[in-house]
Amino acid sequence: MDYSKHISKTSKARNPSAIRALMPYMNCKSMISLGAGQPNPATFPFASMTLTLKTGEKIEIDDELFSRALSYDLTAGQPLLNEWLCELQRIEHNPPVKFDLSIGAGSQDLLTKALEMMINDGDSILVENPTYTGALSFLENLNCDLADIPTDEFGLVPEALERILANWPESNPNGKKDQPRPHCLYTIPSGGNPTGISATLERKQAVYKICSKYDILILEDDPYYFLQYTRDRTPSYFSMDVDARVLRCDSMSKILSSGLRIGWVTGPHALIERINMHTMVTNLQPSGIPQAMTFGLLEKWGHQGFLDHVDRVADFYREKRDEFVECLNHRMKGRAEWVVPNAGMFVWLRLLGGITDSYDLIMTKALKENVLAIPGLAFMPQGNMNNYVRVSFSNVTKANMDEALRRLASVIDKEAAI
Ligand code: PMP
Repeated sequence: MDYSKHISKTSKARNPSAIRALMPYMNCKSMISLGAGQPNPATFPFASMTLTLKTGEKIEIDDELFSRALSYDLTAGQPLLNEWLCELQRIEHNPPVKFDLSIGAGSQDLLTKALEMMINDGDSILVENPTYTGALSFLENLNCDLADIPTDEFGLVPEALERILANWPESNPNGKKDQPRPHCLYTIPSGGNPTGISATLERKQAVYKICSKYDILILEDDPYYFLQYTRDRTPSYFSMDVDARVLRCDSMSKILSSGLRIGWVTGPHALIERINMHTMVTNLQPSGIPQAMTFGLLEKWGHQGFLDHVDRVADFYREKRDEFVECLNHRMKGRAEWVVPNAGMFVWLRLLGGITDSYDLIMTKALKENVLAIPGLAFMPQGNMNNYVRVSFSNVTKANMDEALRRLASVIDKEAAI
């Protein structure tokens, strides 16, 4: 595939930092380095690292790994962790083409670098409606237009995607007739944020086919992939990527720890290389200590042990989902409509009772009643007023779920009565 039309001017203009380009040589045993300003680790106060798991098990981080973690290391991440994650991608997705992998400070780090790599000032990008507010905020800075595609309970609607691409520029929702056709689709295929919806395999296949036809890169942002509640996880776009047009973002945030800030991006070499160039000039590399912690644990568990953990986490959230749906049925029937999610941690409520704007209701009235939720406006690509609310059940007890929904119901009742 020719990626030149997909890479922004800013990204194309990035050259490798001379020092960073030499980093791989610094770990050669026979090399005497008078090169980069590596601080002398003899001056660092840390001697070792031992992790204690909740099971009581202890993991002693290997001395060499720990010592590397304390120093500057490779841009794409600690090689042992990088290779472990590559193997995970092969086991879980078995992609049909060769790929590279780069580790970042959470998937947000890589997602935003990927967006910046693809978008030129004045471009238009295909996004789901609604979509992740953290991507919308970043896209705002890139000065691009959003071509939003409707979603339903099965994910992004392929016919709508085809329609907008086939009829461009007349179909441009921003009304501009001189804007090039979008060349990138940003999608959250599992347990979507904010909808909780997962795209079905049939939908993904249809979307992939359209993206092939119009030469669209797919940015697959999939931090909730491992939170699919059933063991037969729906195959990813990455797993069907015969053209090498998918950049896939994964994250440890929802499975190991969000504070670790470990995410990874996989995709064609030409694109991952550009993301690495970005890292070289911004944060230099992902932090060493979280990488050493993560690798220490993953090496101990092995890939199967990790996937067993994933199953336990998914079961945890499925039980939370069941409790939450019970509370929703109790408190919200007649006040809102929702689709029961089969992955992730969100439910997307459509308020009934003639309510047209959830913003003031959530930001003022619900807050006064001591219940927190996110108004739909935050997730709307065109920033339009609406009657949706995102609620999350990830971190609430059953009693608090019920009480929160009781409070929300009372606010809705007052509003609907007006
Ligand atoms: N993408 C989506 C859709 C998310 O919901 C989040 C977390 N809120 C992220 C990316 C970023 O996750 P992290 O950086 O913690 O991996």
